[in-house]
Amino acid sequence: MKSCPEPHRSASHPKTNVFRSLRFRLTLTNAIFVALLLVGLGFFFEGALESILDNQVRDLLNEEWAAVKGYLIIHRGEAWWQYDDEDPEEAFIVERMRRVYLVASADGKVLDASTIYKDLGLNSPEEIRAALASNQPFWQKRVSKNGEPFLIRGGLFVDDDNTRHFVAIGHSLNERERTIRDFHKNYFTALPLLTLAAALAGWFIAGRSLSPVHELARAAENISGSNLSLRIPLRNAGDELDNLIQSFNTMVERLERSFQMTRQFSTDVSHELRTPLTAIRGQLEVALFTAKTEEQYREAIANALEDVERLSHTVRAMLLLSQAESGQLALQRAPLDLSTVVEEVVEQYQIPAEAEQVSLRAQVSGPCWVDADRVQMERLISNLLSNAVKYTPSGGAIEVKLWGANGSVFLEVADTGVGIAPDHLPHIFDRFYRVPGSKKHGLGLGLSFVAWIVQVHGGKITVDSQLGQGTRFTVQLPSVLPDRLGPAEPHRTAETVQG
Ligand code: ADP
Repeated sequence: MKSCPEPHRSASHPKTNVFRSLRFRLTLTNAIFVALLLVGLGFFFEGALESILDNQVRDLLNEEWAAVKGYLIIHRGEAWWQYDDEDPEEAFIVERMRRVYLVASADGKVLDASTIYKDLGLNSPEEIRAALASNQPFWQKRVSKNGEPFLIRGGLFVDDDNTRHFVAIGHSLNERERTIRDFHKNYFTALPLLTLAAALAGWFIAGRSLSPVHELARAAENISGSNLSLRIPLRNAGDELDNLIQSFNTMVERLERSFQMTRQFSTDVSHELRTPLTAIRGQLEVALFTAKTEEQYREAIANALEDVERLSHTVRAMLLLSQAESGQLALQRAPLDLSTVVEEVVEQYQIPAEAEQVSLRAQVSGPCWVDADRVQMERLISNLLSNAVKYTPSGGAIEVKLWGANGSVFLEVADTGVGIAPDHLPHIFDRFYRVPGSKKHGLGLGLSFVAWIVQVHGGKITVDSQLGQGTRFTVQLPSVLPDRLGPAEPHRTAETVQG
């Protein structure tokens, strides 16, 4: 047994994986960037802090080393400190110097050193001699046995007997190291929190910035052939998303128009085909069931033939336009005096115009040569004239003018008919476009054909119309000198592609 088919499910939106979403990726990029920036800044500030603190200790040691001279006495290989121990300030300064110091002879023999200096390790005679030979202040970093770092500053010391010695004093770097450690700890503890805060802010901002994209996606999902009137409101932010929304809306607008045109076309085609078909059927039925004489049969068949003719005309029109637009219609261009074509076609339309009680006049200033396909030129003039007759009520007038100017040939077809409202004017050359509410039959193909013919001949067409007053179509084609081109081609006849 055949199983029941599953109910139709609409194509659902693919489930977005949050880790692959644009929002997540933007947030992640932002967070990584902020983290790297903060790490970089951290190391930069730490380096700056280290150098500031280093300079402070060095300045202090330089000052103290310069002051040593006033308090340190070296005589006959013995060194001692001399100061006023009743002056607390002086006592404090000297006590500080005496905490870490070393006195050595110029040949490197240590004469005296404080306990802390001994703990740091005494300098070797070679080191001392090299320091004195360099004539530069001697700097060294040392670490005591219990891990306390010290900065040592040494240099040449000349005593009262003019004997050269080496004297060094030192300072603990404990406080400097602690400050740097504290900075490092605090900064790099706060860093993940700062990065997290940046990520949260990024997540929020990305969410807000991308919300129009979600709206766009939702709107696009809701759009279907029957719901093309949907538009996304502009945010007026003047940004890329507004541009995107604008393009999206324009695209939907175009789609809507083309859907409308297609729908209208199907209605028109079916109407155009149904009317003659029903008529043919009716006439044949009448002939079959009621006609008795040969004359009655003949009349029914003649009527049916007329409608078959209309039918095939419509089908041909559709076929021709689709061939033309798909480039399958070969043009046979040759030098052509458009004035003869105008006169001929105007002549053909005198009878239909009279039937509608519309006057039709042509004003041709003389030969106007163009390089054109005669059949298409006849079709162009014929389509414009047939519209003019169709849309001009009785008592009206149609005037056709042809003249040449500035290397162009101008053809004007003006009528005093119903006119076209400004809203519809931009669309009348679109395929299958018909001004809504028109009481006349048509497929909306005539002007599309006209536009195609003008375009393939390198020309321009303009229309200018006032509702209730009339319409004027002006065609401009490049003119040519007849002797520059080959002989005119033999006459063929055109068919009006009317909607
Ligand atoms: P159709 O005439 O078959 O409807 P066309 O493509 O020839 O198709 O014309 C498109 C529309 O332009 C027509 O439906 C009609 O409303 C309008 N139009 C064309 N020519 C004229 C005119 N001379 N006066 C008023 N309206 C016109």
